[in-house]
Amino acid sequence: MKVFNCLLLFISAAWTSFGSERPNILVFLVDDMGMMDTSVPFMAGYDGQPEKHPLNELYRTPNMERLAKQGIRFSQFYANSVCSPSRVSIVRGQASARHRVTQFISPDMNNAGEFGPKDWQWEGIAPGVVTLPAILRHKGYRTIHSGKAHFGPVGSFGELPQNFGFDVNIAGCAYGQPGSYYGEDHFGFAKKGRERRAVPGLQKYHGQDIHLSEALTLEIKEAIGDAVEDEEPFFAYMSHYAVHTPFQSDERFAANYEHLDLKPNAKAFATLIEGMDKSLGDVLDELDRLGVAENTLVFFLGDNGTDAPLGDTHEIACAAPLRGKKATHYEGGLRVPFIAAWAKRNESSAVQQTLGIPANRLSDQVGTVHDIFPTILGVSGIQTKEMVDGMDLSPALVGGILDRRTEFLMHFPHQHRSSYFTSYRLGDWKAIYHYHEEGDGRYELFNLAEDRSESNNLAESRRGELRRMMRAMVEALDAADAQYPLALDGSERVLKPEIPQ
Ligand code: CA
Repeated sequence: MKVFNCLLLFISAAWTSFGSERPNILVFLVDDMGMMDTSVPFMAGYDGQPEKHPLNELYRTPNMERLAKQGIRFSQFYANSVCSPSRVSIVRGQASARHRVTQFISPDMNNAGEFGPKDWQWEGIAPGVVTLPAILRHKGYRTIHSGKAHFGPVGSFGELPQNFGFDVNIAGCAYGQPGSYYGEDHFGFAKKGRERRAVPGLQKYHGQDIHLSEALTLEIKEAIGDAVEDEEPFFAYMSHYAVHTPFQSDERFAANYEHLDLKPNAKAFATLIEGMDKSLGDVLDELDRLGVAENTLVFFLGDNGTDAPLGDTHEIACAAPLRGKKATHYEGGLRVPFIAAWAKRNESSAVQQTLGIPANRLSDQVGTVHDIFPTILGVSGIQTKEMVDGMDLSPALVGGILDRRTEFLMHFPHQHRSSYFTSYRLGDWKAIYHYHEEGDGRYELFNLAEDRSESNNLAESRRGELRRMMRAMVEALDAADAQYPLALDGSERVLKPEIPQ
């Protein structure tokens, strides 16, 4: 893969001055969880203060509330619109336009789409690329993967997390959704028609009345316990299959939603959220029981916007007051929850004093999935010259302001709910280019500071702003050496965004 104009990441070796104790890292990643799918208010009002919305009243996430009280959360944290691009960005530190995993990875066939670039990185994580777990493992961390992988198709190098840096792989494979969430179904192996997507490696729970979220939690707790017993620092990547489809109710929590006027799949979705939340609480409790909670830094996030089954895909419904949902170009498809916190606060802890995260703070700084890689290396005191697009979020995690421009490039030259588009945020503005619409391309332009619901398209009335934004979008795409969709006429002509007159 060609890489141009990358930022070089140099991280100071700050950690060495604080002795040999390094923080453990827990990345708690929830599949298809948007930032409104929780009782924790992540949305800031126009005054910057946390603002509760009806969806915050619907969902029950007491353990996210507990974590949020202990740390800082972001009102503007961005992921890609679908799974694999974000997952690869997390372990590589690069924007999807650069690493070229721009579509979710179909496990069995190249799903570039009819007009998509056929040589996109369908094979996901390729041999030889530098990954976050490989760096951490090299530096002495026990690297543990539990849950959904979705880093490469069947038979590829990227299929299995143990190929690119994880010591332990619990239940990770090429598939992005489980055959079944139920132990009675053997997580899919015993469910007719779902065997192909069955979750591997959990045979000991087959036939039991147990939900997948619980089985993954029990397994990662054991793996973390092993690392602690061996006195190794750990990087635990708890990647829930929940709350992705199939929306199978987590019966432990069904009674909490029975009385609501919702369709069955929306109730089931809410139980999957609560089951995931219980897992978070159980892992935090286990860290405490093992005596490592004060020394463990937790990053909670989602991998794309919500897929809640609550209404029109492209309107204000699933992520209200944000517009759109997973796989669309609107904020509801791109914004995810993000919390950073020590697993147990202790302000006199020497380790925690190296990153003094304030309690119960909502930050308005813009973070992205490709910031996770440099942030974890930064707080672990590990230097690398790896080329990344992200930056170390530490200045924002301690309550400050990031020294960079507010920017997020989301490039999608494929087909899905929204197809063949590039979305680009810069400052308060967001421009979207639709390659195949209205001849030379259709534009949308929103001022997010005034119009967070993306209800007022200013592409016609603010032509100068649109031109400026489109020039910046094209520059960002060029800098990432992005791939483009083909024209609709079958000519193999590659389309680039047009800068309007
Ligand atoms: Ca996802």
